Amino acid sequence: MTSELSLVLQVQKMDLRIAELEKEIASLPLELARIEKTLDSHKRRIEADKSGLTANVRDRKKLEGDIQTHQAKITKLKDQIMQAKTNEQLRAFQHEIEFAEGEIVKCEERTIELLSSAEPLEAAVKKAEAAFAEEKKQVDAQKDRTEARTTESKGFLLVAAEERKKAMAALTPQLVSMYERLRKKHKNGLVISEVPEGRCMGCQMMLRLQYFQQLRQATTVLCCESCSRMLFYNPPKDVAP
Ligand SMILES: [Zn+2]
Repeated sequence: MTSELSLVLQVQKMDLRIAELEKEIASLPLELARIEKTLDSHKRRIEADKSGLTANVRDRKKLEGDIQTHQAKITKLKDQIMQAKTNEQLRAFQHEIEFAEGEIVKCEERTIELLSSAEPLEAAVKKAEAAFAEEKKQVDAQKDRTEARTTESKGFLLVAAEERKKAMAALTPQLVSMYERLRKKHKNGLVISEVPEGRCMGCQMMLRLQYFQQLRQATTVLCCESCSRMLFYNPPKDVAP
């Protein structure tokens, strides 16, 4: 491998590292958003359970009030019954009292139903709140870790960019422009290809024999005639040149 090419290889190594760091830095906020979304959905579930519980308490209070109203009405009807002048009036009052008593029974039955559903609801809310607090603690810790990781990666990125700049400065302007052009063409950033046994590992095409021979003795950078990647050939160490 020519010394020029080993310098380009250095730049490529830096660029691959930079791309990796940039990808990681970009992915971290998405990861944070995902965990926060999960936490939010759990919070909403607790709120739904809580509002169910609030509605339950409110309904029971209303039933209590209804019972009191019916009882007051019964008391009043019992007073009125004393003043009934005819059997018809008497029956009418009695009928009203029976109706109010029936309503009280219904209210009491509904209250019992509400009470029995309130208990598991209360337990569920309590449990979910405890789980949520624990989860929130973990999420906060994860957020801290993610933020620390981002800061660290940004630091690495600055270092890598500085190193790239240095490696780039050692290249000739021709090599710089060739490298940048190839980098645009090959999106994975791999612009240098090894040619073992005469095959370009970048595009898998065989080199012309004459061109391959040329590459083996090359003192300048040669490019693949098929994919344009910069080529290098290192003969196996156990074979005499
Ligand atoms: Zn090629």
